[in-house]
Amino acid sequence: MPASRDLVVLTADGLYCPAGDFHIDPWRPVPRAVITHGHGDHARGGMGEYHCSEASLPILRWRLGEQRYRAYAHGERFRLGGATVSLHPAGHVLGSVQVRIEAGGEVWVASGDYKRQADPTCAPFEVVPCDTFITEATFGLPVYRWPDTAAVAADIVDWRRRCEARGEAAVLFCYALGKAQRVLAEIGAHERRPVLLHGAIAAGVQVYREAGVDLPPTRPVAEEAKGRDFAGELVLAPPSAAGSAWMRRFRRAQTGFASGWMRLRGNRRRRNYDRGFVVSDHADWPDLMRTVRETGARRVIATHGNTDAIVRALVEDGIAAEAFRTGYGDED
Ligand SMILES: [Zn+2]
Ligand SMILES: [Zn+2]
Repeated sequence: MPASRDLVVLTADGLYCPAGDFHIDPWRPVPRAVITHGHGDHARGGMGEYHCSEASLPILRWRLGEQRYRAYAHGERFRLGGATVSLHPAGHVLGSVQVRIEAGGEVWVASGDYKRQADPTCAPFEVVPCDTFITEATFGLPVYRWPDTAAVAADIVDWRRRCEARGEAAVLFCYALGKAQRVLAEIGAHERRPVLLHGAIAAGVQVYREAGVDLPPTRPVAEEAKGRDFAGELVLAPPSAAGSAWMRRFRRAQTGFASGWMRLRGNRRRRNYDRGFVVSDHADWPDLMRTVRETGARRVIATHGNTDAIVRALVEDGIAAEAFRTGYGDED
């Protein structure tokens, strides 16, 4: 297929759709951006227009302030240049979408970040049939397979109780946008005891609550009495708080990290966490392979992370696969 017919190409500014004259999650300022979700490496400031899902607006407004937003319902079709575009749930975080592009009789889908596991805080991933699928590959190695998240939440509750018996706080690090709210919602199914929050997480929790997501009761750590003993409390904090002065308020504490990266024991040891809990907002290896098959795509372009292994596996399956080098991070 000649490259000129491609509906999405890689440019210095990011993924670009020539037919529609717009970028998807660009990493440099451009006139017209379609944004898949509110994580900092996908939604950046300085764009002329932001085309996004209605469900992602509260997060984008929180992160980027007032901008020229055009928000669409899931599946609503709109025209950008010569392309027909629609946004479909990606199941990654609140408001996250895939971008479907149709032009010249071809359909391409750019996944953004996505997962297939159930998540009570956002709409589930929708399989969108396409000719070419641009898939993320953050965890594109066969070793990455996720356990059932409800079981992991039960482990976290059990860990808190053990800490309580030892007179320790249980400080669980997790990314402030998406992961923290999902972990809260999953824990809420096991116990409705208040969870204490670092300020960076409390802000995102507020955005989710205002969007109507049901979360268990929480309290900001900052409003607790000076010198109080946090023994037995579950505290959620961003990874940046690990090893910081903020930790000194917990006289005795165990630390844990909730992330797909915790699937590898070496990561936990290197980062010095007492416990690792495998909870990811990205697709694991079996779900990456399954999703590619379910879209029916004849051609696949992998972005982010471990693209080599997924490209190799797909080529072995007879699918035309390649990788784009993108400017996205590997937070999870
Ligand atoms: Zn993301
Ligand atoms: Zn990403």
